[in-house]
Amino acid sequence: MIQYQKASDVQDLAFSIVNSLELAHIKKEKLHFYRSFGSRSRYTRARIHGLSRIWNDALVMDPLYIIEVIAERYDDLPPHEKEKVIIHELLHVPRGFSGGFVSHGPALSKHRIESLHQAYHESFKDQVPA
Ligand SMILES: [Zn+2]
Repeated sequence: MIQYQKASDVQDLAFSIVNSLELAHIKKEKLHFYRSFGSRSRYTRARIHGLSRIWNDALVMDPLYIIEVIAERYDDLPPHEKEKVIIHELLHVPRGFSGGFVSHGPALSKHRIESLHQAYHESFKDQVPA
């Protein structure tokens, strides 16, 4: 059985990325972060969940997203890889924060993730005192 735990480390990383890359469409208060244990998926390191619009309507709530990292696949990654995994998941959130997803394709290309990852690191360079 899969166990879930809130993941404040993932939240900290994701918020840092959202702030640095100025992903203004992402409503941080509507993002939730979990770490799962015991998943059988062999290759997935993280995934993003949302509710379909009919659920949001029935529950009378705004869209929200959950980013789940799979402990067995994510926790041992080096920091740079974790950052890219979280950038990838954040890119699944569409501009309208509608509850839907941006699918795999040009918007989530390896090239785009690499360049955003680089921009993320460059955003720190400015803050280092000379
Ligand atoms: Zn994906």
